[in-house]
Amino acid sequence: MITVAIDGGAATGKGTLAQRLAKAYDLAYLDTGALYRAVAYDVMNAGYEADNEEMAIKSALALPADKIGQIQSNPAIRDEKYGTGASKVSQIPAVRQALLDFQRRFAESPCHTDGTPAKGAVLDGRDIGTVICPNADLKVFLTASAEIRAKRRYKELQLRKIYAIYEDVLSDVIARDKRDSERKTAAMRPADDAFVLDTSDLTPDEVFTAVAERLEQKMCGK
Ligand code: C5P
Repeated sequence: MITVAIDGGAATGKGTLAQRLAKAYDLAYLDTGALYRAVAYDVMNAGYEADNEEMAIKSALALPADKIGQIQSNPAIRDEKYGTGASKVSQIPAVRQALLDFQRRFAESPCHTDGTPAKGAVLDGRDIGTVICPNADLKVFLTASAEIRAKRRYKELQLRKIYAIYEDVLSDVIARDKRDSERKTAAMRPADDAFVLDTSDLTPDEVFTAVAERLEQKMCGK
């Protein structure tokens, strides 16, 4: 069983890298940010503030493990307001605990979205290498300057024809980094044994090649 942990801040390229690795090596993929986004979506659409503890815990405990594919591919949770909501629900320790169990079950018995068992998993998030899968075979932590990440996010929003102001996107990236790296439980940080890669001046192909090389070395050693 192979486990790959990909962590890093918003718009560092984690999702793109994790999906490419999963496809190339036939591994199951879990976008753990989607779980926090789904909780924020539930809470906010029920008419509560994202940081409503009671509602957020209830929603996290009720997340259906057999619907991971649907949760991850729901375009509605990609809206910026649910990203910000997710960074608020993720501060609640009981929500993190409920989602920790969910994520560990996935890493221990990974399945593709059609339910077939996989030989391993790639998980991307903020605390995969440090808390969720501390024994992962490969841990990667991606970084990039806040300005470059804001530009990437701004371009992505423009492509999706979503109106945004660059300065607002930049301040959201900075605010989210601050909340994620300063929270009391499972703060975002690279694991001591993580491969830290600055993606500011790299293309997605260059990031993939650098990480795939390391993954193949690990797989050869197994
Ligand atoms: O990765 P994404 O931007 O979709 O994540 C949304 C938010 O969910 C993050 O800003 C973070 O607060 C939270 N999150 C987390 N731990 C993870 C994944 C996401 O706290 N493993």
